[in-house]
Order: sequence, then structure tokens, then C-alpha cells
Amino acid sequence: MTKPFAIAIHGGAGTILSSQMTETHHQQIVSALETAVCAGYQVLKQGGDALEAVVVAVTHLENSPHFNAGCGSVLTHKEMVEMDASVMFGDQKQVGAIAGVRHIKNPITLARDVLKHSQHVFLVGDGAEEFAFEQGHTYTEQDYFFTDRRYEQLQSMKEKGLFALSESSYPDDKKFGTVGSVALDQSGNLAAATSTGGVTNKKYGRVGDSAVIGAGTFAENNNVAISTTGMGEAFIRHTVASDVAARMRYLNEEINVACDSVIHGELKNIGGEGGLIAINDKGEIHFSMNSLGMYRASIDLDGNVSVKIYADE
Ligand code: ASP
Repeated sequence: MTKPFAIAIHGGAGTILSSQMTETHHQQIVSALETAVCAGYQVLKQGGDALEAVVVAVTHLENSPHFNAGCGSVLTHKEMVEMDASVMFGDQKQVGAIAGVRHIKNPITLARDVLKHSQHVFLVGDGAEEFAFEQGHTYTEQDYFFTDRRYEQLQSMKEKGLFALSESSYPDDKKFGTVGSVALDQSGNLAAATSTGGVTNKKYGRVGDSAVIGAGTFAENNNVAISTTGMGEAFIRHTVASDVAARMRYLNEEINVACDSVIHGELKNIGGEGGLIAINDKGEIHFSMNSLGMYRASIDLDGNVSVKIYADE
């Protein structure tokens, strides 16, 4: 008999206005989310481990231009793409993280390679890329990541002197768009993965929560796996992912209580907009957000597929 397994993904939180979303755009996003969650689920169904499942799901999202990760990444002040990613496997709390990479097609697979093949756990910039090429990743030109839409968003942010994704004339500027996945496999292992281009117009080698274990990504067996999305500075200050896990570990809080306490409590109180996805050791999934929406999808213990965008769905 197969043991319980389930998976959830997100494609970023933020102010997603239904009035500004065309039917075609909506369909494309729903189908990208569905493809990604099904790909991760197949890994679990075939007995693969949770780490592989979350990496496969996130790789699909990185390859879609609709999200702020991989080929859809936002631009820095210097008109470059600089991406952050991390993974955690709950068995022995193994981790791998990378930040500020510019020429890696799928940053999440590099984070996985750091976990599996490096003596270190967190590599940045040129060093991370040097390691990547030793591991067989190919050099990807910046052109691959560059889109007119992201360039226009950057110009709009520059004019306003903002680094954050806010108050722009662009409909999806406040949709953060980071991607992530959490899963429980048939052996009872939990894993989490998160990948992002960060925030538009970021400067000085800024790194957000997506690369920071305990802030954007966390997984421990017999407890919970979490991936977050939102304004990274706030998530780092509140070590959001590990805080949720600690509440469940020490206070025995249910997954929904722990997640909502942090997202609607401490985080919201400091103006931290965003959300998270979580799965516990029984395979129960919870989505929590204090933004108007979060692109998200899941396949639960009974194999039911669900795809949602707005908070009130
Ligand atoms: N958390 C990401 C960051 O601050 C942004 C996002 O969620 O889209 O880099």
C-alpha cells in the first residue's frame, strides 16, 4: 500500500487585481501552475523523494515567463538579472542555497547541487557560478532572461525612485512572483524549495528571503515544510519560515494556526506583505497570505488538483 504523499506550489503573492487580468493571461497562469504541480506530483507518485519533487516543480515555474524566477526574473538597477534560490530536505535538515547568480538557467537545480555536492551550504555570485560550471551547468546569456515587460517595469520603478514592487502603473508590479514548492514523499520526508529574481530595481547585491534558509525556505521531517513569497526584508527580519516551524514544534500548533499567526500577525504588523505555502508530516496543506492574492496550486492526499489565485477563493 502506498504511503501518503502530497505537494503544493506557489507562483508569488501580492496585489493581483482581477480587473487587470485578461482571460488569456489568467488561463496561461493556471495552466503553468497545473503543469508544474503535476510534474512534481508524478515524482512523488513514482516513489521519488520530496526534494526531487519540489525541484522538478520549481524548474517548470522557472521556465515560464509568467513568474519572477528563471526566465521571467525582474531586473536590477543596473539592468541585469540576479537570481536567488534555496532548498531544504527535512530528513537531516540538509540545505543548499545560492544568491546573485546571473547566468544559470535554473537556479533551483544549482541550489540542489549545493545541497548534494558541496561541503558548503550557501554560495553567492561568481563563486556560485564557478561551482555551477564545475557541476555541469551551462553558461546562459543574460539575453535569455531579458523581457521588454521587465525592462519597462524597471524604468517605471527608477522614475519613482523605488526599489520595491509598489505603486506602479504596471498591473502586476505588486505581484511579487517568486516561485516555490513544498512536498511530503512516501518515505515521510518533507522538502521545500524557493526561487526568485528578487525585487525590481534592487541595488548593491541585495539578497532577499528566498535564498535565506529559515526566512524563505524551511523543512524538517515530522513537522513541516514551508516556502514563502513577499517583501523579503520583512521575511528575513521575522525568520518567517523557521518561526512557523518553531510554533508547531514547541507549541504544538496546528499548521493553519501557526502559519496564520505569523502571516496575519507579526509580519502584517510591520507592513510585510506576502504569504506562504506549508505542508505537514501528515500531508495536510495550508496556504496563508495577507496580500490580495497568491498564485498557488496543490495536489492533496486524495490526488485532488486545486489551482487558485485570489485570497478569497
Ligand atoms: N521574496 C522575494 C524577495 O524579496 C520577492 C518575492 O516574493 O517575489 O526577493
